[in-house]
Amino acid sequence: MQTTPTGPAFFNFDNSYARDLDGFYRLVQPEGASRPQLIRLNRELAEELQVDAEQLAGPEGVSVLAGNLLPAGAEPLAQAYAGHQFGGFSPRLGDGRALLLGEVIDRHGKRRDIAFKGSGRTPFSRSGDGKCALGPALREYLVGEAMAALGIPTTRALAVVATGDMVSRERALPGAVLTRVAASHLRVGTFEFFAAHHGPEKVKQLADFAIRRHDPQLAEHDQPYLALLEAVAERQAELIACWLGVGFIHGVMNTDNMTISGETIDYGPCAFMEAYSPRTVFSSIDSAGRYAYGQQANIAQWNLTRLAETLLPLIDDDSERAVALATAVLEAFPERHANYWLKVMRDKLGLDQTGNVTVDRKLATDFLELLRQRKIDFTNGFRALFDAANEQPAPLHHLFGDDAQFVHWQNAWQTRQPQRSAQQIITMKHANPCYIARNHQVENALGAAVERLDMAPFERLLAVLQQPFDARPEDAAYAEPAPLAVTAMYQTFCGT
Ligand code: AMP
Ligand code: MG
Repeated sequence: MQTTPTGPAFFNFDNSYARDLDGFYRLVQPEGASRPQLIRLNRELAEELQVDAEQLAGPEGVSVLAGNLLPAGAEPLAQAYAGHQFGGFSPRLGDGRALLLGEVIDRHGKRRDIAFKGSGRTPFSRSGDGKCALGPALREYLVGEAMAALGIPTTRALAVVATGDMVSRERALPGAVLTRVAASHLRVGTFEFFAAHHGPEKVKQLADFAIRRHDPQLAEHDQPYLALLEAVAERQAELIACWLGVGFIHGVMNTDNMTISGETIDYGPCAFMEAYSPRTVFSSIDSAGRYAYGQQANIAQWNLTRLAETLLPLIDDDSERAVALATAVLEAFPERHANYWLKVMRDKLGLDQTGNVTVDRKLATDFLELLRQRKIDFTNGFRALFDAANEQPAPLHHLFGDDAQFVHWQNAWQTRQPQRSAQQIITMKHANPCYIARNHQVENALGAAVERLDMAPFERLLAVLQQPFDARPEDAAYAEPAPLAVTAMYQTFCGT
């Protein structure tokens, strides 16, 4: 194996995964890049990680971000994991084109993984090249930052470096290394790998690690592994509600793309819905609609069931009892999620959180149904409600006119909550972004970056998405839905 030279200590590494989980990974060096060029550095995130952004942007920093120079203290490793992909079990996936460099403690005291994507082949690469193209790396950067600005738990990109090497896809494309920051890279699929190949002792070791990392209060719990399952279910129940609240469709919710931390991970064929329909699918490989917008909570429950299966031997020696306990957690998931969904929807509708549950659910579903029947843009439909609550009725009237069914709904909505405090208006505003990462805008920004090395559209779009809640006249074009013809054609591809 080649060895990568070691440089200065860019990161203050403390690598618990490498230290505590011997046998759960393979040590691998990054392949390196022939002509690295820094395309984008996330200075705000660098600061959060207590990393010197100036140093990272310098020549040695760029070498580090390209995998040509290892920062002191890094222990690059490829994590083993398995996964259910579109329902079928793949027992051996793992980091085929990613490496965990190490972990740092951020300025809030939180442990974060620093990882590469696209840094070359690993023992888990199978027939893959271990590479990542520039377009998908920039998509992950952009959508991750958009999600972070919307307040949704997510992994984030620290940097994108173009390698100067071409990557062979349907055609040759410029290659890139993305540096990804995550609360951890533990996935449901990590548990599946060790359950499938190594048995309960290793699963226990992994579960204890996950508890230390994400739920340390559970260490003293009398049922720690059942409680871990419940904690993961709780986070996913909330995460999916957050996704639904902004029209986000992950696109490939395989168990290897579902985290234990509750962060969104792997922005491949993801997209934000425009005209509202729960059946919306964008991924070209999801022809059956398994991962459609409205399926995502069901799929999360399905994925949690796969996690539960790996934990059963730890939950109770009596397998029937273990199944009964885990099943109770899994069966509680729909209601857990429905409660978060109602909270999100009440915020979107500008309703206090104390009203009658049945009435408020119906207000939400009736409004969604109006959007669906009239093919109204999800984001703009809700934003218009906010505007109306904020004494600007024109956008809502523009969308619905004097439609009798809508007027009937609007009366019920106004009766439910005739007045709002200033704080409630702010809450409602923050539940109804003006700007989401619209497909045609994302494509336009990535196209300019990849085809013409023109980063201006990317930078402009990123700046808009980083401030999603304040309407700005000069950014009006970014709030416009794509022309219908574009949406009809639009598919994001996993060919990353
Ligand atoms: P993803 O679709 O990115 O979630 O990846 C699913 C699995 O395929 C993971 O095990 C990846 O490591 C692997 N994979 C995806 N693309 C590549 C590639 N270009 N080279 C090697 N492995 C890959
Ligand atoms: Mg993945």
